[in-house]
Amino acid sequence: MSETINTFEAQQHGRPTGPLVRGYEVVIGFETHTQLSTQSKIFSRASTAFGAEPNTQACAVDLALPGTLPVMNRGAVERAIEFGLAIGAHIAPRSVFARKNYFYPDLPKGYQISQFEIPVVQGGQVEFFLNEEKRSVRLVRAHLEEDAGKSLHEDASLGGGGMSGIDLNRAGTPLLEIVTEPDMRGSSEAVAYAKELHKIVTWIGICDGNMQEGSFRCDANVSVRKPGGPLGTRREIKNLNSFKFMQQAIDYEVRWQIDEIEEGREIQQATVLFNADTGETRAMRTKEDAADYRYFPDPDLPPLVIADAWVEQIRAEMTELPRVMAARFVAQSGLSEDDANAMTQSKAVAAYFEATAQACNQPKLACNWIMGEISRRLSAEEISIDQAPFGPQQLAALITKIANGIISNSAAKQVFDALWNQAPSEDVALSGSVLLSAFATATLSVERIIEANGLTQMNDSGELEKIVDEVLAANPKNVAEYKSGNAKALNALVGQIMKGSKGKANPQQVNGLLHKKLG
Ligand code: ADP
Ligand code: MG
Repeated sequence: MSETINTFEAQQHGRPTGPLVRGYEVVIGFETHTQLSTQSKIFSRASTAFGAEPNTQACAVDLALPGTLPVMNRGAVERAIEFGLAIGAHIAPRSVFARKNYFYPDLPKGYQISQFEIPVVQGGQVEFFLNEEKRSVRLVRAHLEEDAGKSLHEDASLGGGGMSGIDLNRAGTPLLEIVTEPDMRGSSEAVAYAKELHKIVTWIGICDGNMQEGSFRCDANVSVRKPGGPLGTRREIKNLNSFKFMQQAIDYEVRWQIDEIEEGREIQQATVLFNADTGETRAMRTKEDAADYRYFPDPDLPPLVIADAWVEQIRAEMTELPRVMAARFVAQSGLSEDDANAMTQSKAVAAYFEATAQACNQPKLACNWIMGEISRRLSAEEISIDQAPFGPQQLAALITKIANGIISNSAAKQVFDALWNQAPSEDVALSGSVLLSAFATATLSVERIIEANGLTQMNDSGELEKIVDEVLAANPKNVAEYKSGNAKALNALVGQIMKGSKGKANPQQVNGLLHKKLG
């Protein structure tokens, strides 16, 4: 795959020189192992479920025992095609599985089935924003392969026997390995790329994206060079499974490589591991070349042939992509581009927003509430929007009350808090007895909170006028200051009146009344 690139033009890939670190340009390419969300393994019927007892989910095919034959999982191919379509790649009509031969305890069969010369997904690009600037990282390829097992080591210091064991449950789990060109020019760009890739694969639903469980593992190939010079020798940081560690590992690696070069040493191509406890990268082994793996086409598997009709069928059934959806929010709902990006940060947020906006017909307010109060509570409680204690119907009911002038903004915050804190079962019980639409049910519960707390905006001007008169009488100093030209004194009076009305006064009415009375 790797060709020797010599000209400066090609080295740069038409890109401007990236930001320099101590006079060096950082160059990064990513290889990401994405676990595909199929129920069964890539070439067998064994389950892929995470967390089972060790060695209960590896079957004879996964171990390549004599007499077994692998059979391609159609679902895995479908997911690879979906990914290719999502990033504008070429879907190879014919691709080939190859054996990658190496010895490792977690690979007792001695080879991994992968794709080598002809991968299923070729080219394509991932686009994202970094500091409000549009970036595009080109992909070389994405190929299907099987995962290996896992080595588990007992920690002797924790009372374990210090033994190592092998769990083969993961053997044969379908992976899509996604490889970029060396297009990234720093750790921030690399992390932004990885986040966008993570968003794409979870959005289209080909991967659960669970980084702790290893469903999305990134290898960062990092090198440094003097601007305009040839590409430096890279070291590959393996298995970065959090965005935070990714940034730390790359930053450490860049500092380390520059130190080495500055001290007159040459960088050796190597595979390194990041240690989250020390924040350092450490060489694990010198890097193998493709030749070391003695790749050859797997004689047990025929070429993977994908008919155009199949690709077109998948294209037609594919979910709307985040960028397309964001553009639609701008065109249809009049959201700004920033708002539309925020509302498509994840599929769950987008679904919540769309349902809310549709139910209340107030897209801008829906967006504001999701970005404001909801985001605040979600991050405080470290949960995602699909775990929020109430759904779009409730939010829409609340927004409708604001838009119709029934409650003030400050009262709305109280209703919001009450909704958030109330037992979620309440609405279910209510809708069980009477047949109500979800929105009507939600409106009822919002209404009940408004009534129970007396939050209806004060629309009776007599009642409000009484409070205004009381506040004016009690604050002669502020009144005098306002009359002598200090416009700010009015704010204190408004504050007192809002307080006197327990937040129920309509601020516009208060202003009107004050201006009338103070001239
Ligand atoms: P291999 O097959 O040995 O892993 P590849 O040529 O396929 O090597 O490259 C693997 C990854 O390393 C790709 O993402 C590629 O963009 C990246 N890469 C290649 N050369 C460099 C370099 N000099 N600096 C940083 N990344 C690089
Ligand atoms: Mg590689």
